[in-house]
Amino acid sequence: MLKFLLLAAAALSAEQTLSIIKPDAVNQAEEIDAYLENAGLRVIAAKTVHLTPEQAKEFYAVHKDRPFYNDLVAYMTSGPVIVQVLEGEDAVAANRKAMGSTDPAKASPGTIRADFGTDVQHNAVHGSDSLENAKKEIDFFFQPEEISCKTSS
Ligand code: UDP
Ligand code: MG
Repeated sequence: MLKFLLLAAAALSAEQTLSIIKPDAVNQAEEIDAYLENAGLRVIAAKTVHLTPEQAKEFYAVHKDRPFYNDLVAYMTSGPVIVQVLEGEDAVAANRKAMGSTDPAKASPGTIRADFGTDVQHNAVHGSDSLENAKKEIDFFFQPEEISCKTSS
């Protein structure tokens, strides 16, 4: 009974977030997924996609006026990426913590960006920054039926 209640509580507080393994880190995807699993995150959907410039521009539209926008779009379309739906308690914050700071040089040791990133642009992974954006970003890449265990909408 207690186990059932704990499982039910865990399911209720579970969130989903979107992760992208960026082009230059795709060959380290297994190691990166191990970091995510250690952070209590389960990969419940994953696919490899090669973004078109239009998709990358739309996905990063919030940054369209930033000086790095065009370079970022070029980088994100330079090769395939792996898009993943992660699920777990406080998944958005847990993933951001596992990722580390945007600039790998400033990211805490043991974070994904510290260990797999190269510089502020080539920083190995993307992660949604809020639950609201997580929902939008998951919808950007996945149909509901592509996600194996949808505990929240
Ligand atoms: N980026 C960059 N130069 C910068 C800041 C960001 O090239 O000065 C890139 C980097 O790949 C980053 C992405 O733009 O991951 C989105 O930036 P954001 O500020 O949203 O950082 P994040 O949420 O990825 O930590
Ligand atoms: Mg961001």
